[in-house]
Amino acid sequence: MRSGPAVRRLSDWDAERLRALAGEYETPLYVLDLDRVRENAARLRAAFDAEEISYAAKANTTRPVLETIESTGVGAECASAGEVERALAAGFGGGDVRYTAVNPPDEDLDYVVQAATEHDLIVTIGAADTLDRLAERGFSGRLCIRANPGVGAGHHEKVSTGAAPKFGVPLDRVPELASEAVDRGFDLVGLHAHAGSGISGEDLQAHRELVARMGDLARTVIDEVGRLEFVNVGGGLGVPYREDESPLDLEAVAAATREAFGDVEATLGIEPGRYFVADAGVLLTRVNTVKPTPETTVVGVDAGMTTLVRPAMYDSYHAIRSLAPDAGARETTSATVAGPICETADVLGEDRSLPDPERGDLLAVGNAGAYGYEMSSNYNSRPRPAVVAIDGETARPAVRRETVADITELETWSK
Ligand SMILES: *Cc1c(COP(=O)(O)O)cnc(C)c1O
Repeated sequence: MRSGPAVRRLSDWDAERLRALAGEYETPLYVLDLDRVRENAARLRAAFDAEEISYAAKANTTRPVLETIESTGVGAECASAGEVERALAAGFGGGDVRYTAVNPPDEDLDYVVQAATEHDLIVTIGAADTLDRLAERGFSGRLCIRANPGVGAGHHEKVSTGAAPKFGVPLDRVPELASEAVDRGFDLVGLHAHAGSGISGEDLQAHRELVARMGDLARTVIDEVGRLEFVNVGGGLGVPYREDESPLDLEAVAAATREAFGDVEATLGIEPGRYFVADAGVLLTRVNTVKPTPETTVVGVDAGMTTLVRPAMYDSYHAIRSLAPDAGARETTSATVAGPICETADVLGEDRSLPDPERGDLLAVGNAGAYGYEMSSNYNSRPRPAVVAIDGETARPAVRRETVADITELETWSK
């Protein structure tokens, strides 16, 4: 499998092809490049050659992405029963699917326990309550315990999970819960932790600390209960959102991970989401308004926080590029790119230097493959965008554009 360059920048995308796709499928439109997903998978595999790799499906659950990642031989980490169902439907083998229970609704546990009898799923619990609730349902599948390692990492406090009390069993309570699970007849196979999203070169210390704590914990638990198959230390591998940011040195992260883990009689595992898909996707949006103001030029576009929420929710930076055929010949302007939603936060980018924008221009928003379409919403009765997947020379629609009728169809009220 070709592993490609360490990063694909927004400037690397073929403008002519993107213009043709926008012409055919209209905007706003997510474009996913499956070749790039394969390259990302290949680089992960090369760096983490002895480790178990899973894809954190919540980054992008569109069918072509799930099928492509499954075909690279990795497993799937699922955050809900719905994700488990979709991962199984996309071809992931049940034994390679892990369901991470976070305050799981009853329906989730009902579904997962049922599915586990058929598919040998692994269920990861983050609270002693969940153990009781699985026992009540007669769960006899494989079990994993999520620890709260007490260290978090992330590009924003909202994505730092490692130390948030919401996630995982406090580290010092895990050995006790592990013994209890084994005594109650559960097939305890693994331990898990996830620090948060956005491991970067500078953040490696937090990652090292988390992995070291998990190594210690694993040795303690193995002493106590006899054996473990795996220890998963989560995802969070960062990608460069800014054009001048360097890509993660995967080999260095892998080496640091192994070293911090130390000697443990269990397979080390990671479960990145973003890294597989972020730079494999762009969002295409059309300029509909150009408004000079005393502060800036506001460039109004047809995609907003309902299409891509990361800038509004996490203050995330996404590169924006004009795909106007004559962009290179234009003067540049400092612009604020804003969407059609009635919210101040509905801004895709501020103070961006763009070729003089004109109504009808096509813009591309970079690194939109992860947590883009996945987090889209219907706020302001905005139908969600379409998704098209390209694979070599071919392009195929993956998700059709939503309509207002799709939204109102759910209403049960009648006069
Ligand atoms: C979200 C999540 C991941 C993936 O995070 P990325 O930043 O996309 O790599 C992995 N594991 C768990 C438990 C998660 O919730």
